[in-house]
Amino acid sequence: MSALDGLVAIVTGGASGIGAAIAQRLRADGATIAILDRDTAAADPAFTAFTADVSDRASVDVAVAAVAERFGRIDIVVNNAGIGAQGDVAANDDDEWARVLSINVTGIARVTAAALPWLRKSPAAAVCNTASIASTTGLPQRALYSASKGAVSALTRAMAADHLREGIRVNAVNPGTADTPWVGRLLDSATDPAAERAALEARQPHGRLVDPDEVAAAVTYLVSPAAGSTTGTSIEVDGGMARLR
Ligand code: NAD
Repeated sequence: MSALDGLVAIVTGGASGIGAAIAQRLRADGATIAILDRDTAAADPAFTAFTADVSDRASVDVAVAAVAERFGRIDIVVNNAGIGAQGDVAANDDDEWARVLSINVTGIARVTAAALPWLRKSPAAAVCNTASIASTTGLPQRALYSASKGAVSALTRAMAADHLREGIRVNAVNPGTADTPWVGRLLDSATDPAAERAALEARQPHGRLVDPDEVAAAVTYLVSPAAGSTTGTSIEVDGGMARLR
């Protein structure tokens, strides 16, 4: 018997990168996976995927209802979908601020709110949000992104407080720079991608990028019954970046 046998888990942004690794890990531990992503064509066809844009409440409501209809329950929600933003506080206009916050922060509220009636019925309800090293560390040229991920940490604690007595635990992971298609796209846009990658690796305290599977392992622990007394907290998966400089 595996830890998550019989449980149904929604993974937003599960078509790529960290979300895809989370989906694999949760499935290996016995969960049935429902990927929610705006780009379901990119998802591993081994998973059932539901198209939704987390910045659009109607599409979220339809997709979460479809997951419940298909599987009859929702026990775990992993709010992982997110996008980046570069530059200082002057670099992005109001529309971009609204767009990024709507995906990275309000998206978590939309998906979790839609799933709440199902989570309340689950004997093993857990939510895990993907925050970032940017939640706690002042990164240069990441003003909007950092604001959004700091909000994810605060929202994680608030949700944990609101739903503790309902038996729903809420935690977060704070990944450092992880080797995902997102980071690959950033490196590919450099003049010398190989040199840029080497420089990025050298900036990590442990000399390499974070493996998405390492983030997935932390998420899998946080949503499992083994973490039954853990709520409102975050696990850093960053090679020590936030603590050891
Ligand atoms: P990725 O771009 O490889 O994957 C992101 C996935 O989210 C994609 O499948 C994309 O289609 C989906 N998505 C994006 N916007 C969406 C929306 N509005 N609605 C539904 N789905 C949407 O990115 P990744 O590197 O795997 O990042 C995943 C999460 O991890 C993000 O929240 C990101 O902020 C966070 N994170 C990443 C890193 C890193 O270095 N890669 C570090 C810290 C935190």
